Amino acid sequence: MEDHVQEPTDVVIVGGGPAGLSAALSLGRARRRVVVIDSGEPRNRTAAHMHGVLGHDGLSPLALLDRGRAEAAGYGVRMLRGEVSSARIVDDTIEVDTTEGAIRTRRLLVATGLEDVLPDLPGFREQWGSGVVVCPYCDGWEHRDDVIGVVATSPGSIHQAQLLRQWSERVVYFENVVGKASGDDRDRLVRRGIRIESGAVTGLRVDGDRLTGVEVDGRVIEVGVVFTGPTMRPRDGLLRSLGASTTASDLGDWVDVDGDGRTSVPGVWAVGNVVNVRANVSVSLGLGSLVAGAINADLVDDDIEQLAAQVVSA
Ligand SMILES: Cc1cc2nc3c(=O)[nH]c(=O)nc-3n(C[C@H](O)[C@H](O)[C@H](O)COP(=O)(O)OP(=O)(O)OC[C@H]3O[C@@H](n4cnc5c(N)ncnc54)[C@H](O)[C@@H]3O)c2cc1C
Repeated sequence: MEDHVQEPTDVVIVGGGPAGLSAALSLGRARRRVVVIDSGEPRNRTAAHMHGVLGHDGLSPLALLDRGRAEAAGYGVRMLRGEVSSARIVDDTIEVDTTEGAIRTRRLLVATGLEDVLPDLPGFREQWGSGVVVCPYCDGWEHRDDVIGVVATSPGSIHQAQLLRQWSERVVYFENVVGKASGDDRDRLVRRGIRIESGAVTGLRVDGDRLTGVEVDGRVIEVGVVFTGPTMRPRDGLLRSLGASTTASDLGDWVDVDGDGRTSVPGVWAVGNVVNVRANVSVSLGLGSLVAGAINADLVDDDIEQLAAQVVSA
């Protein structure tokens, strides 16, 4: 059984991606006792390089996390490997179940990211992160002036195609049945020279491991890359099991947090993609630092209250 069951640790962070590790670094430097538990599946793990992260442009996402773990560990943060699926509120602490037993903590920060559910089409999973990508700001530059295919997953994909026109004059919009462009949308695509391919996409053409084309209606349209819009599912099971409130949006039900990352459950905080679909690596790093500051301030208030209570009872 974990030694912190007797003496609660200050913060348990579930999820050791950019958001969780950034928070861990700040909290470790604030001399808090911190444990990070991570299952080792960051969202961008299939990408060889990470872009748009100042000072780290082109670095491998896994190398960033290696550095982050080493930096946080240098300030005494403990790293555990494993998946956390349950936790409970016990008095004014939270008990988190880990592979090493239950850890009692004063604050819980959930930074578990989100899962990208890809269109159920042959080859998409294998190419994810190389030939098939999602984020123009992460991969647009690498495919500037290339033939860029956009495989629609909903009518919202029309916006993705318009955005990608910024990187290339040769954009092909694959309507793929679910993303029919009609009326004004169609006019606006045509006006910007975006080619529209109707019909169902049935797969990808690959040479070795390099994407070369998209199969539609028995034809192959050559492309250098495919952008698509996966369904983004927050990995928020732990937060929900603790009773965190959610709000419905166009993207589904997402757990509520305030500007400091507080959820509706006392002592439970959340940061990064698990609560913020727009948190790319830079945003996740920034918010991790912001939320860490807020948690530390909250713990300072708690430290003062505990001292005041001791004085009263003495
Ligand atoms: C293919 C691809 C390429 C991308 N490229 C870029 C890019 O170039 N630049 C950029 O800025 N952004 C990029 N992104 C976005 C980037 O991946 C996210 O912004 C970033 O990963 C969000 O960080 P996070 O810490 O919130 O979540 P994650 O990085 O997903 O980290 C969450 C961590 O929590 C762990 N975890 C989940 N559930 C549990 C659990 N129950 N118990 C324990 N651990 C758990 C996971 O294993 C994971 O390690 C890309 C995304 C994709 C899909």
